[in-house]
Amino acid sequence: MNNITNNLMLVKQRLELAALAAKREPEDIQLLAVSKTFPARAIEEAMHAGHSAFGENYVQEGVEKIQQLAKLRPWLEWHFIGPLQSNKTREVAEHFDWVHSIDRLKIAERLSAQRGEFPNLGPLQVCVQINISEENSKSGLPIEEVEALCTAITKLPHLVLRGLMAIPAPSKDIVQQRQALAAVRECFIGIKTMHIADFGYDFFDTLSMGMSDDLEVAITEGSTIVRVGSAIFGKRDKV
Ligand SMILES: *Cc1c(COP(=O)(O)O)cnc(C)c1O
Repeated sequence: MNNITNNLMLVKQRLELAALAAKREPEDIQLLAVSKTFPARAIEEAMHAGHSAFGENYVQEGVEKIQQLAKLRPWLEWHFIGPLQSNKTREVAEHFDWVHSIDRLKIAERLSAQRGEFPNLGPLQVCVQINISEENSKSGLPIEEVEALCTAITKLPHLVLRGLMAIPAPSKDIVQQRQALAAVRECFIGIKTMHIADFGYDFFDTLSMGMSDDLEVAITEGSTIVRVGSAIFGKRDKV
């Protein structure tokens, strides 16, 4: 068995054990294989092992791989998870199924308008990114501003607001790590409750958090998509 196939199996086992320990159904947690910096052939390998959802961080690199794997497009689901500049939204609107990293209304408005130019694609599934514990990071929105952006996005015609995404700063302190993830979950539940009550909006079901090193604790704290790169594809040279 090759490495990627074997690693995928190990990560799925971790996911299942964490779900069972948290008294959750493993099927309620999606594994997103983060293939950034790895070539299309690594994605094909994962696909042959039965995997179909892949995450990319860089627009250029992601679009290149999507085009290289165009023949397999009907079986693949592509998630954009990296920082997004406004001059790159068109390519994302044209090629991806999901965007996890929305933190400005302007980006959401551009994605919606541009997605509308491809009616055969259907709406783009999106999450708002919260900046939870990364003081130095420019990505993500402070928790106080998340609700207003979510409400604005629900009014855009070619986006479906699916939930929240967070990348808590790695911490050796497990209590601190859990607190950060729990704060994201509380924000998620607050917005979900409000949106369902106020607008009957029932698509808000996604909490995208947890990576190779912290997927167990993220699942304990309610994650529904874990984004796992190095534990599947191996160590990366660049980040
Ligand atoms: C790289 C990356 C991941 C995967 O990280 P690993 O530690 O390799 O699992 C997940 N989410 C985002 C946003 C990333 O940039």
